Amino acid sequence: MRKRLTIVYTGNGKGKTTVALGLMFRAKGHDFRCGVLQFIKKNPEKWGEYKMAKSLNIPWENYGCGFTWKMKNPEPTIKEVKTGWCRAREWIESGQFDLIVLDEFTYPLVEKWLELDEVVAYLQALPPDAPHIVITGRNAPDGLLDAADSAARIQNIQHHFEKQKIRAQKGIEF
Ligand code: ATP
Ligand code: MG
Repeated sequence: MRKRLTIVYTGNGKGKTTVALGLMFRAKGHDFRCGVLQFIKKNPEKWGEYKMAKSLNIPWENYGCGFTWKMKNPEPTIKEVKTGWCRAREWIESGQFDLIVLDEFTYPLVEKWLELDEVVAYLQALPPDAPHIVITGRNAPDGLLDAADSAARIQNIQHHFEKQKIRAQKGIEF
C-alpha cells in the first residue's frame, strides 16, 4: 500500500543531490511523474543531471540567483525562493506529480526567507495521495528533520578537493 513520504538529505558531505536524483531515477523507472524544483542555484543548462532530466521529459525549474546573496543584497534571491515555494505548492496540489525533488530547499529555511513552521505544517497536512517530497540541502532545521518520514545526514570521509585539491569534475560534480 502506498504511503506518501517526506524524505530529507542533509549534511556537509557530497551526495545529497545525487541521492535525491537517484531516487527520482528509480521512481521514473516505475513511470512516476517526477519533477525538480531547484532553489538558490541557477543556470543548470550545462549540468549532466539537468540534461538527463530533460531527455526523460522531467520538468526542472530553478528559483535562485546563485550563491551571490552571501556577498550582497539578498532581496532578489528572497523573491525567487518565495516564487519557488509557490510553484512547489502548485505542483504538489496539481495532481500531476508522484514525486517532487526540492533541491537546496533547506537554505531558504535556514535563512528564514520561508517560514519553517508554515512549510512543516504544509508538508504534514498533505493528503495520502500527494506526491512524495524529497528535500536536500545543508543544515536542515530540526523542525524539518522531525517532520520527515526519513532523514539522513551525509558526511564526507574523504573528498577529492580536500585531499588533493581536485576541482569539480564533469560527470561527478556537474
Ligand atoms: P552532489 O550534487 O554532488 O550530490 P551535494 O548535493 O551533496 O552534492 P552541494 O551542497 O549541492 O552538495 O555541493 C555541491 C558540491 O560541493 C558537490 O558536488 C561536492 O563535490 C562539493 N563538496 C562537498 N564537500 C566538499 C568539500 N569538503 N570540499 C570541496 N567541495 C566539496
Ligand atoms: Mg546539492
